[in-house]
Amino acid sequence: MRVQVAIVGAGPSGLLLGQLLQRAGIDALIIERRSAEYVLGRIRAGVLEQGTVDLLGRAGVGERVAREGLVHDGFDVLFGGQRHRVNLSALTGRHVVVYGQTEVTRDLMDARLSAGASTIYDAADVSVHDFDADHPRVRFRVDGAAHEVACDFIAGCDGFHGVCRQSVPADALRQFERVYPFGWLGVLSDTPPVSHELIYVNSPRGFALCSMRSPTRSRYYVQCSLSENVDEWPDSRFWTELKARLDPATAGGLVTGPSIEKSIAPLRSFVAEPMRFGRLFLAGDAAHIVPPTGAKGLNLAASDVHYLSSALVEFYQSGSRAGLDAYSARALARVWQAERFSWWMTHLLHELPEGGAFSARVQRAELEYLVASQAARTALAENYVGLPY
Ligand SMILES: Cc1cc2nc3c(=O)[nH]c(=O)nc-3n(C[C@H](O)[C@H](O)[C@H](O)COP(=O)(O)OP(=O)(O)OC[C@H]3O[C@@H](n4cnc5c(N)ncnc54)[C@H](O)[C@@H]3O)c2cc1C
Repeated sequence: MRVQVAIVGAGPSGLLLGQLLQRAGIDALIIERRSAEYVLGRIRAGVLEQGTVDLLGRAGVGERVAREGLVHDGFDVLFGGQRHRVNLSALTGRHVVVYGQTEVTRDLMDARLSAGASTIYDAADVSVHDFDADHPRVRFRVDGAAHEVACDFIAGCDGFHGVCRQSVPADALRQFERVYPFGWLGVLSDTPPVSHELIYVNSPRGFALCSMRSPTRSRYYVQCSLSENVDEWPDSRFWTELKARLDPATAGGLVTGPSIEKSIAPLRSFVAEPMRFGRLFLAGDAAHIVPPTGAKGLNLAASDVHYLSSALVEFYQSGSRAGLDAYSARALARVWQAERFSWWMTHLLHELPEGGAFSARVQRAELEYLVASQAARTALAENYVGLPY
């Protein structure tokens, strides 16, 4: 089998790249190790920057997000028992859109299906070869049968635990990492959100986030220790803990109900440099991870795909390698801005177990500065809505 671009991974990066290439007439095959149902069942991100929504539109999948996505002009920061609004629209002229990652994935899968583009699901033993030479190949097994795909380029869109980054020789890669000493316990429930906008909570009991996926489906998180197990958190304990981190008025308005998903996610900052090795290009979580506090993971995957798809289209249309050569530097410049912001938001809002009393006071001073200073709020808002591509 031969294609122009072999894409490893059918998460948001792989599917969006596949869609943009397919619309430009470039032959791309996606190879995914899980089933389509499994990929669709993963509950993850939910806040889209306007740039991401625009990119979905350019990919021909903007119709449902425009109709069903919830436009958010701001969010609240709750600390010291009081809620303070950050008005994104007034501060930046832009907004964000709440639309679940599963919905983005579903739209992209549907578009791929109707275009007749191929995706191989349940591919086992995926491996990438010869990307440092002119004829890269991807090998995998389906139902025990071995397959090999020859291609011009490989896009490594296979997430943090994928095979592409791990196939790069160690001495060609520099990795930067920070693992935080806490995680997020998340609950999804079919209950109306406690507020029509997100509430980021800094409390002495730890961070919390009141978020949503739709007017009838809520997503809540509480900071937890990494040693905790989800089985130790029956719904009743989760709701009691969440209420204890909110101010009385917000807690009083919280509608609780049975969880339909509950999981603990560790928090990590990670960047691998560069994002290109010969004819292998990394995109999304395969190259970088941010803690979810700044809502940047999915949006960064989209901006990588924007740079990579433009570079591949330029190559196939004009023969120019300029975009391909610039890809890693361009993507990394934006990645590091998002890394900085996500790291800063995480330190601003979480209870820092190793920080001690001094850190707690500095954190409080920074929160008060945010309330007092329009310049500080503008800097927060500009990063939250997303820096331009
Ligand atoms: C638990 C969790 C919660 C999150 N919450 C948020 C949030 O609230 N806000 C936010 O902005 N971001 C969040 N993120 C991050 C966000 O979901 C990711 O940044 C986003 O999914 C990145 O998309 P991706 O396509 O690059 O990677 P992924 O979504 O990880 O997709 C990679 C795909 O590659 C496949 N794959 C892996 N290995 C192989 C292989 N060897 N061969 C073939 N296929 C392979 C995987 O099965 C997967 O389908 C969260 C992430 C996690 C894990």
